[in-house]
Amino acid sequence: MQDDISKLNIEFYRNFELSKYCTWRSGCLADYIFYPKNLNDLYKLINLKKKFYMVGNGSNTLFLNLKDTILISTKKMNSIEFDGEYVVAECGTALNVVMNKSLDKGLLGFEFLTGIPGTVGGALITNAGANGGEISDVLVSVFFIKNGKEIEVKKEEIEFKYRTSSIKRNEIITKAKFLLRKGDPDKARIQIKEYLNHRNNTQPVRWPSAGSVFKNPLPNYAGLIIENLGLKGLSVGDAQVSNIHSNYIINKNNASPENILSLVNMVKDKVLKDTGIKLENEIRIIDEK
Ligand SMILES: Cc1cc2nc3c(=O)[nH]c(=O)nc-3n(C[C@H](O)[C@H](O)[C@H](O)COP(=O)(O)OP(=O)(O)OC[C@H]3O[C@@H](n4cnc5c(N)ncnc54)[C@H](O)[C@@H]3O)c2cc1C
Repeated sequence: MQDDISKLNIEFYRNFELSKYCTWRSGCLADYIFYPKNLNDLYKLINLKKKFYMVGNGSNTLFLNLKDTILISTKKMNSIEFDGEYVVAECGTALNVVMNKSLDKGLLGFEFLTGIPGTVGGALITNAGANGGEISDVLVSVFFIKNGKEIEVKKEEIEFKYRTSSIKRNEIITKAKFLLRKGDPDKARIQIKEYLNHRNNTQPVRWPSAGSVFKNPLPNYAGLIIENLGLKGLSVGDAQVSNIHSNYIINKNNASPENILSLVNMVKDKVLKDTGIKLENEIRIIDEK
């Protein structure tokens, strides 16, 4: 492996602490993490024929155990191109960068995603959304690697629903095309401030987390169900059900991924036992024992 790797000429790290990468500030070690800069680098990594897992900003993922799996971080695949009202952003582009660069060009439509600390690739997997919108609302097409080449798949061929998409675990998103609209960026920036104020007032933004842990069992809200059962503040080690927003589990200092998982399962068990509602994870849990 080491020989193959040195020939690749791609930035990588060994025995990498995912607690330094993921927004939960908790996670296992990765034997290898690679930072491809472009499509060509990505092809080289795929051709290693190793088991791999794509990671964007790690803001929706809990890494418990990785077994012989290399991680491919998309953070350095972050170019953006504009063509009229169309925007094509590479998979690792941060959502706020897409939004801000679009606003600089007088293009609106991405504002509702304000405050979601994810990348384009990660956001498409869960059809990330907030403030009444979802990323699929402004999506035109997604580019994937299939059989050694990049292909474009129209939005209509992919199923997007509340916090889920039909994109499969082994599919590799390289970039996505969005259609925005011309408008007044100053007005949009006022709206963005309101969205941010709302987040700051209703979410534990000062603590490491992965956002909402559970999908809302619509028309109910997971946070409300958890709060009504008196589970605010419930802790395992340094993992705690937030006192501000009960669908968040925060890391108070040094929570291990196992602490977080135990708490996730405790909450789910209690909700099922007391209400009959089966909460579904919004977060991804990687546990390759
Ligand atoms: C404070 C906070 C607030 C949040 N608020 C919201 C919110 O309001 N709404 C919301 O929807 N989410 C929210 N989230 C959750 C999270 O930010 C989103 O789900 C985000 O879109 C995840 O993006 P990511 O790049 O971090 O994904 P990661 O966690 O890195 O990855 C998520 C999944 O996507 C896959 N993936 C990533 N890139 C690719 C690629 N290029 N090709 C194939 N698969 C890929 C990964 O393998 C993984 O399965 C919040 C999180 C935090 C920490």
